[in-house]
Amino acid sequence: MSDSSVRPFGARPRHRTRLVRIGRVAVGADAPVVVQSMTNTDTADVLGTAMQIAELARAGSEIVRITVNNEAAAQAVPHIRDRLLALNMDVPLIGDFHYNGHKLLTDFPACAEALAKFRINPGNVGAGAKRDPQFAAIVELACRYDKPVRIGVNWGSLDQSVLARIMDENAGRAEPLDAGAVMREALVVSALESAAKAEEYGLPGDRIILSAKVSSVQDLISVYRDLAARCDYPLHLGLTEAGMGSKGIVASTAALSVLLQEGIGDTIRISLTPEPNGNRTQEVIVAQEILQTMGLRAFTPMVTACPGCGRTTSTFFQELADGIQRYVREQMPVWREQYDGVENMTLAVMGCVVNGPGESKHANIGISLPGTGESPAAPVFVDGEKVATLRGANIAEEFRAIVDNYVATRYTRKAGQDPRASRT
Ligand code: SF4
Repeated sequence: MSDSSVRPFGARPRHRTRLVRIGRVAVGADAPVVVQSMTNTDTADVLGTAMQIAELARAGSEIVRITVNNEAAAQAVPHIRDRLLALNMDVPLIGDFHYNGHKLLTDFPACAEALAKFRINPGNVGAGAKRDPQFAAIVELACRYDKPVRIGVNWGSLDQSVLARIMDENAGRAEPLDAGAVMREALVVSALESAAKAEEYGLPGDRIILSAKVSSVQDLISVYRDLAARCDYPLHLGLTEAGMGSKGIVASTAALSVLLQEGIGDTIRISLTPEPNGNRTQEVIVAQEILQTMGLRAFTPMVTACPGCGRTTSTFFQELADGIQRYVREQMPVWREQYDGVENMTLAVMGCVVNGPGESKHANIGISLPGTGESPAAPVFVDGEKVATLRGANIAEEFRAIVDNYVATRYTRKAGQDPRASRT
């Protein structure tokens, strides 16, 4: 984990927020920006949900949210937590509640106990006269079980009474705001007023996290800038319904990187729609890569690779770049336990000698494959010095061996690690 006091060049200081503890994870203040994710299994399926949470946690999700939508789900939560603990995984679980959270948390105390945080949406707590008492009931349960609460508003389920009031106030202005600005103001007001109400009901301010999610990049940036200026609660960032594939990744990155660069955001989630049969862990990897490429945290050694051009003779350098990125990601669960600082290692895989040696010298380990008309040799640089020239059919294996050797010799072995222990 990078030193959170180190600020990348050009980044603004972190927006000052309170520190909130979610199980063993700290969010806000000077704590590193936390990566979280959400399952898409039926929570009542204990085994399936526990397996997906374990997969997300192994990929690097530091907090995992699960939907708790009915009695079967509430009943399953403590069993899910127990299965994870049996796997030695103490990942904090957040319960996502809509409409019936007050009842489920009352009727299933083991569920309330097993969760590390409750997430509620003020727009979905209850309708009409039921809203305030049901909101108060959840807050009272959070106080009783000593749990923090995320008050997460969403433009798709905005509290209509707040929206109606802001619209009325806007109509009375000499220069009324446009519809988009009214919606953004209603989101911010709904989050802030709900937090104030939660504090009135007894929840300490250092147990509240806020989010206000929308699906438009510009709206998200505007809403969070406003929230950050108007409160000191930690903020959970995420572009809701970001979408699939590159669109979801690009939109989330565009929105979050602007805010993170301004020091806004204490925890993030990337709401990607998985491809059919796609891996849920992609949202974790994207979140980590946003933070790591911005220089805010380090999770996994990163591979720099050129895009290739007419000078590349085959797809071999693409395969090598892809293979080595996968390899270091697979190794990280073991390396992380054994070596301090290995996540900061940088690798370069380049397609020819035009930029290859220069880029390779900037990485901890770099390789330049031969381009068109170049001699069939691949120089390897380690910390700026040429250490080997690889040739023939085993370049990928030999390059991996150089990476393994570098990790074993350059990073401090953590206390208690047997230097003879084999690395798998
Ligand atoms: S390093 Fe070589 S192969 Fe890669 S893009 Fe540049 S010129 Fe093309």
